[in-house]
Amino acid sequence: MNTYRVIKVSEPFTTQDELKAIREVLLSGQFVSGRKVKEFEERFANYLGVKHAVAVSSGTAALHIALILLGVKPGDEVIVPPLSFFATIEAVLYQGSVPVFADIDPRSFCLDSQDVERKITKATVAIIPVHLFGNAADMDGIMDVAERYDLAVIEDAAQAHGTEYKGKKVGGIGNMGAFSFYATKHMTTGEGGALVTNDGEWARMARIIRNHGLIDANHHDYLGYNYRMNEMAAAIGIVQLKRLEEMNERRIVNSLYLLGELDKRNLGWLTVPELNTNVRHTFFWCPVLVNGERLGLSVTELATKLKKKGIETRHRYHEPLYRQRALGPSYRNTHLKNAEQVAGRLIGLPNHPNLNKDDLDYIVTTLEEL
Ligand SMILES: *Cc1c(COP(=O)(O)O)cnc(C)c1O
Repeated sequence: MNTYRVIKVSEPFTTQDELKAIREVLLSGQFVSGRKVKEFEERFANYLGVKHAVAVSSGTAALHIALILLGVKPGDEVIVPPLSFFATIEAVLYQGSVPVFADIDPRSFCLDSQDVERKITKATVAIIPVHLFGNAADMDGIMDVAERYDLAVIEDAAQAHGTEYKGKKVGGIGNMGAFSFYATKHMTTGEGGALVTNDGEWARMARIIRNHGLIDANHHDYLGYNYRMNEMAAAIGIVQLKRLEEMNERRIVNSLYLLGELDKRNLGWLTVPELNTNVRHTFFWCPVLVNGERLGLSVTELATKLKKKGIETRHRYHEPLYRQRALGPSYRNTHLKNAEQVAGRLIGLPNHPNLNKDDLDYIVTTLEEL
């Protein structure tokens, strides 16, 4: 029994530097969209290798602005994956548009580009691939479909800061990319997000929409929102971004160690996902698939049992998104085979940068002894 502490599934990695950065902003008296936001945007764009980053109040706001910039309107269809955080489709619903679900690839848990193509209709305007758990969606396949049907691609990279697909950072591959800096993500600003793009006009318009549609102090030329990022958040973001690669490396090392050890142990009830050699996976989650029948426990029971032993796990996305009540009855007949098979069987093991080898070994032995 691990008696010294609970191993949390996620933990922000912060130091005195964040404190110093906030202090500086507090003392300056400038709290909103100023120097720090601008610096954070430049650094984040530079990190990703894109021309523009627009800092906003959340990842959801970034997705919403992306859809506004595309002119997505009621009746338009946007193709989305059934396995993600609900925010991916909330943004579509905010525009009165229709989320259309395509199935996932059971190896990557991300959108299957062939099924995306099957779901295209005359009303389709965009695709939102989600780089789930720090993995990357099949961007070659998705960009190819998008080009052939003249569709826009918004990457939901809220779980994939620094993930690379064929050597290119995700978020900068499609037309636009959305990131979140919520507390549990690879890096945090408390709450926050960013929209990234290589298109200067979109970046300019995104800055107008995040600030009430104002083009100057008095003229609201567009319907906008209050989607600004504040200076304190940006100041934290600057510090966190400097540490992102170090934090990602630790996540990757921790996850590969856990997955490697579990693979060796060959537990009949636990499957380690296959990793794609074209992807630098940054492991927002360290996901494993559980076969509850073989284990003799439901996945929820497993999560409870592990928690009692001091190991927190992630157990979310129990069901495909199309079954969420907020969507109403229109998806009653939607049934995507791979998503149905995977949803509910996934748990995420602790892999955050603060863990040490003893923690990881404790996780492995605890799972082995079940
Ligand atoms: C976290 C997350 C979001 C939303 O980000 P917020 O900053 O919480 O609004 C969107 N999509 C995915 C896949 C996420 O994990």
